[in-house]
Amino acid sequence: MRILVLDGVSEKGIDILREPGFTVDVIEEKLSEQQLVEMIPAYDAVVVRSATKITAPIIAAGVNLKVIGRAGVGVDNIDVQAATQHGIIVVNAPDGNTIAAAEHTLALMLALARHVPQANEALKKGKWLRKEFTGVELRDKILGVIGLGRIGTAVAKRAQGFAMKVIGYDPYITHERAREIGVELVSLEDVYREADFITVHLPKTKETVNLINREALAKMKPGVRIINVARGGIINEQDLYEALKTGKVAGAALDVFEVEPTTESPLFELPNVVVTPHLGASTEEAQVNVALDVAREIVTILQGGMAQNAVNMPAIPKEDALVVKPYLALAEKLGKFISQLTSEFENIEITYAGDVACINTAPLTTAIIKGIMESYSDVPVSYVNAVQLAKGRGLRIMETREEEAHDYTNLITVKLTGGPCPKAVGGTLFRDNDARIVLIDGYRIDMVPEGYMLVAPHIDKPRIIGRVGTLIGEHDINIAGMQVGRKQVGGRAVMVLAVDNVVPEAILGEIAKIDGIIDVKFVSL
Ligand code: NAD
Repeated sequence: MRILVLDGVSEKGIDILREPGFTVDVIEEKLSEQQLVEMIPAYDAVVVRSATKITAPIIAAGVNLKVIGRAGVGVDNIDVQAATQHGIIVVNAPDGNTIAAAEHTLALMLALARHVPQANEALKKGKWLRKEFTGVELRDKILGVIGLGRIGTAVAKRAQGFAMKVIGYDPYITHERAREIGVELVSLEDVYREADFITVHLPKTKETVNLINREALAKMKPGVRIINVARGGIINEQDLYEALKTGKVAGAALDVFEVEPTTESPLFELPNVVVTPHLGASTEEAQVNVALDVAREIVTILQGGMAQNAVNMPAIPKEDALVVKPYLALAEKLGKFISQLTSEFENIEITYAGDVACINTAPLTTAIIKGIMESYSDVPVSYVNAVQLAKGRGLRIMETREEEAHDYTNLITVKLTGGPCPKAVGGTLFRDNDARIVLIDGYRIDMVPEGYMLVAPHIDKPRIIGRVGTLIGEHDINIAGMQVGRKQVGGRAVMVLAVDNVVPEAILGEIAKIDGIIDVKFVSL
């Protein structure tokens, strides 16, 4: 495996990437899109910070690319949609720089309140100015936090240490969560109307670009101070410039800009603007943290595991990982198994019963769909694009949960329905996570889900199993195990043979001709 590391990702993360024996190429200089398009086919993974843009053409050229790692939070420098279409996982490191960004927000807020940069500059130029730099206190001021995720929350908590009253707007968090962090959840209009300081901690999305524009600024308190340590473009720079000029906004502190990097902006000429060149995450600690986090994710993914912080697939929260992971391989095998029994279906019906019904099953459903779609897709199927591929084929995915798993403690059943011959397969984890297929079309069996198998529904009568065995034996194919599931003597039954070699089509044709055999399928797991 080969990994390309760009943008000066911390050495400690690079060490983690080298540990499993992966080849890691670290390139310090900035590469053009064309250079990356030429280089990328050699790589299984690429890691960037914010400088390099991983665009659709680079992703399309990355024929071996499995994962794109962003050592940081924002992924607006990565074309996530293109990555998803190509089945490439995008992972970020959302936790590592929370404190750095929150502390920088506080630093900027204090700098704004007390004119620290302006006073520093004046004094160093030989001007002892005191009256001009009279500031305001944070105590008893109202801080409006827009976006109460990781950083917004950390900022809110720290602002409370300065005795500020914190109000916030975030349509995606509950009042209970807001209460826990000591923030009064209000409408956006109320934030504009009441706040003395407003800080944005939002992702840059269609919804949030230009959120703070002329209309929003007009609704704010005269003399409001505004801070952006999130993403450039959330605040419209032209509109902010005008509001600063008129004095409607008393000051603004900006760490991020619509175009980056930049050393020129009308905003830089205003005395009431404090700027830093995207330094929010730039602490020694944060750079190490994000590099370690993203490197661990990349190693996990390249070794076949599931990511914790994937941007474009259902992530497994840390607290769920221990209980979900043992089921993942079984889920994928069930999908792969059933997809080889029929190709005519419209619905994928999944039932989680018993213990497995109570856990986060989203990753398991993805694993099942991945197993199924591998039989039907000519593009590589991964956890990222599996569900999208299934939906693109018009397949309906249905999920149900049942408390009772009959004779098992847990049971996952996958049915392919809507075609002429619906199929069903069920699997369970016994003690020590010992995976078994225990049901095929309602017949009980007990097979380890691995290797090669023949699945043959038939009529339960003498001389069928023997003839199948003899025929296979005559072609030098060893039978490693056999199970027959039946409901009543003389009725329908299903025979499953574990075999040591691939069974060629011609032999399957001969088996199908044996009197009493209803169908025969070769399954490879
Ligand atoms: P997060 O995902 O934890 O939080 C974002 C919050 O915004 C979520 O709670 C979400 O519900 C909320 N939100 C989304 N859309 C919204 C909307 N339209 N209105 C109100 N709330 C909305 O992210 P985070 O880790 O707190 O990061 C916040 C921002 O800071 C991101 O844009 C990230 O890229 C940026 N960031 C910048 C730096 C820097 O160097 N300046 C460093 C780290 C993070």
